[in-house]
Amino acid sequence: MSKTRILVTGGAGFIGSHYVRTLLGPLGPQDVTVTVLDAFTYAANAANLDPVKDSDRYRLVVGDICDSDLVDRLMAEHDQVVHFAAESHVDRSLASATEFVRSNVVGTQTLLDAALRQGIDRFVHVSTDEVYGSIPEGSCSEEQPVNPNSPYAASKASSDLIALACHRSHGLDVRVTRCSNNYGPYQFPEKIIPLFVTRLFAGRKVPLYGDGLNVRDWLHVDDHIRAVELVRTRGRAGEIYNIGGGTELDNRGLTALLVEACGAGPDSVEYVTDRKGHDRRYSVDWRKAHVELGYKPQKDFAEGLAETVAWYRDNPHVWDRTAQPGQAGPSGGTTGNAPC
Ligand code: NAD
Repeated sequence: MSKTRILVTGGAGFIGSHYVRTLLGPLGPQDVTVTVLDAFTYAANAANLDPVKDSDRYRLVVGDICDSDLVDRLMAEHDQVVHFAAESHVDRSLASATEFVRSNVVGTQTLLDAALRQGIDRFVHVSTDEVYGSIPEGSCSEEQPVNPNSPYAASKASSDLIALACHRSHGLDVRVTRCSNNYGPYQFPEKIIPLFVTRLFAGRKVPLYGDGLNVRDWLHVDDHIRAVELVRTRGRAGEIYNIGGGTELDNRGLTALLVEACGAGPDSVEYVTDRKGHDRRYSVDWRKAHVELGYKPQKDFAEGLAETVAWYRDNPHVWDRTAQPGQAGPSGGTTGNAPC
């Protein structure tokens, strides 16, 4: 039986590596091979892929999605693409947005051009609820026009539009997913949950932006990955699918849960100057994914959060780069051309 050859960009990051571990794990489909293409920015971690590194259905290529020669060669050897690679942290985009435009916008266009040239038959583009901008109430359906505020969200909205345009203009089978805030193990400790947990375990204070009342919907990475797989296998070309987790919390409430879970006290929370242009609330309406694909989040938030906190407590050798011999660089991968 011939296997579907999937190119996973950004597969050494938080969500991409979860996808790869799931696809190549005992419960994943047996009829796929996976090639990870990842540039190994600060957010990547080779240890995230340790559980699959010996699989004969797995290959790692260290390289940049903006490198069109490399991307062309890889596309020629694959049937489908699941595109996670991106600069993903809003705060970094506020400090400097250039790399966000390069990787998220130019990188996505480079992949799409190569996908067209090499006749890729399916391209899943992973995006974010942040493209819709802040909404005070209700939930955004897929028909809502994009209205991004941060440079990160603007770069993702641009890449969504570019990907959809490639479908409309050239007929490439592109499917776009827009998910809410992911949580779970293996996330680089810069976003709120892993940052706060690792600081609290170290006995340090945690910085809460503004009044702490910004609201996010929390999605366990297992649920997100299941939804991406549903979109890859059962979704429709040219469609957008929102993916939500079903647990809305403000940051103050989330922080209180984390403080308690880590056995710290309320004095470990320090209110700091708000993030510039901090979006107040995101919320996606994910009924389309439910009705068309049967998607429904399964992970109970309290349980998922407790497991995540325990994972960070028990696995510093995975997430703490300073504790890893030789740091977090890749081993055993082939290297592409120099980054553009
Ligand atoms: P991450 O920052 O953990 O990982 C991103 C990965 O992409 C890293 O391994 C990095 O090395 C790689 N990468 C970055 N630029 C690259 C380039 N030019 N070439 C090749 N590889 C490159 O991100 P994540 O949290 O796993 O997010 C994955 C995707 O999901 C992103 O597209 C992000 O926008 C989207 N998303 C994330 C969340 C979330 O809560 N984390 C929510 C909504 C959407």
